[in-house]
Amino acid sequence: MFTAEHDDLRAMIRDVVDREINPFVDEWEEAGIFPAHELWPKLGKLGLLGLEYEPGLGGGGADHSHTVVLGEELGRIAAAGVSMAISVQVDMATPSLARYGTPELKERYLRPAIAGEQVCSIAVTEPDAGSDVASLRTRAVRDGDDWVINGSKLYITNGTQADWLCLLVRTSDEGGYRGMSQIVFPTDTPGFRVSRSLRKLGNRSSDTAELAFEDCRVPVANTIGEAGRGFQQQMAQFQNERMIACYIAVGQIQTALDRTVEYLRDRVVFGRPLLEHQHVQMRLAELVAELDLLRQYNYSIAEGYLRGADTSWGATVAKLTAGRLARRVADTCLQFHGGMGYMEETWISRYFRDSRLLSIGGGADEVMLRTVAKMSGWPTSP
Ligand SMILES: Cc1cc2nc3c(=O)[nH]c(=O)nc-3n(C[C@H](O)[C@H](O)[C@H](O)COP(=O)(O)OP(=O)(O)OC[C@H]3O[C@@H](n4cnc5c(N)ncnc54)[C@H](O)[C@@H]3O)c2cc1C
Repeated sequence: MFTAEHDDLRAMIRDVVDREINPFVDEWEEAGIFPAHELWPKLGKLGLLGLEYEPGLGGGGADHSHTVVLGEELGRIAAAGVSMAISVQVDMATPSLARYGTPELKERYLRPAIAGEQVCSIAVTEPDAGSDVASLRTRAVRDGDDWVINGSKLYITNGTQADWLCLLVRTSDEGGYRGMSQIVFPTDTPGFRVSRSLRKLGNRSSDTAELAFEDCRVPVANTIGEAGRGFQQQMAQFQNERMIACYIAVGQIQTALDRTVEYLRDRVVFGRPLLEHQHVQMRLAELVAELDLLRQYNYSIAEGYLRGADTSWGATVAKLTAGRLARRVADTCLQFHGGMGYMEETWISRYFRDSRLLSIGGGADEVMLRTVAKMSGWPTSP
């Protein structure tokens, strides 16, 4: 799947991460936010916010194999909050707009998102609707050529900085997964407010917000795709979200294992480097082997996606596997660092906190297990 062109892309991303991101992440973690409006134009200029999107809108027109490289290299960012925020812009908030949006809507919102001039968020989760997306309540009622929106959204990444949201709302009374729509929601709309900025266990450099909507009017023309098909469109968008999360996880796990091996080469305990102790070596070798399986599995999903195949099964299995592997890797690497690993100043303690999210966000492990059971044709609860 990869050629010399992918190697060049990899080197370019590595360079920008080392120059524009990694030197600043400690400061951003401390601040609980990173400056998206300063970083995005730099990434946009390099084409990194729209690798797969139409060249006519400023996108790269590249195929999905380039997103695999992007994800793996974002995994080298020394704070997962920043890699998550980038992946929200690139592969969580914009795929539906690119796929189903009208030319006018794409011109107005996708072009500036690709250029890095606008920050966007995906707004699905609500206080009473997380794993069960079909129970969401935020509602848009049609009034002439406008939607009038009321409700709230919770845990929204980039939520305090976003210029627009890819908002999933109810647009009819059908209930369940019927009658939802995706709407491009500009955050300068009167009646919208960030009700809370949330403090978190990990991913601290990423801002996460609770959002409130009170009689917010947006044009019906801002509807992405077909009104009433929002749930189905969002489910397709979730596949992109899960795939990039797994590519990033591979980069993060590889980095964690590399850095741990480096530390254990020098740390002498009982007269020899820890890396020479058989138990340590074998435990790490097990994790390296599992990482290799995940990486190759990711590549097989990416190849399927390139062929136009349905990747729901693969993305689900990979997301479940990646979340669980990341937790074991973080725990093992921290353990082998001893007291040093427990110190706030050490990179591994941050990775330990950050990595926990992968088994919760974008569909918890149990939701992945439920999907595997469902797709296997087993009887499941409603
Ligand atoms: C840092 C962070 C960033 C986020 N960013 C965004 C964002 O940008 N946009 C957005 O829309 N959302 C975002 N989310 C929300 C995230 O996707 C949800 O937290 C996630 O889907 C789980 O929903 P919930 O938190 O409501 O948990 P709940 O639905 O309350 O579930 C709680 C737990 O119950 C278990 N569970 C759930 N279903 C089942 C089942 N069927 N069987 C057995 N056990 C089950 C799981 O262990 C789950 O973790 C973010 C969350 C976090 C923490």
